[in-house]
Amino acid sequence: MIELIVMRLADMIRVHPDQITGRCSKCGEEVGIYPSGQRVMQELPDVELVCQVCRPPEPDAMLAPGAELEPFASRKRDKS
Ligand SMILES: [Zn+2]
Repeated sequence: MIELIVMRLADMIRVHPDQITGRCSKCGEEVGIYPSGQRVMQELPDVELVCQVCRPPEPDAMLAPGAELEPFASRKRDKS
């Protein structure tokens, strides 16, 4: 199963003008999907949306192409 990790709308600090919203397949929380994520969804129709709380990104997690150019991972600095 391929999962696309997305940011909960409530946790997004910045909003991308072209983002769409969806729901986490685990907790049902509303999430924001950046254009890079939308491209992944088009290429992989079976991809599951999982919010960053249900599935914190791992070092080897697949990053959506172009996501590194977007504030995809911007979070409040808590631990690191
Ligand atoms: Zn979730």
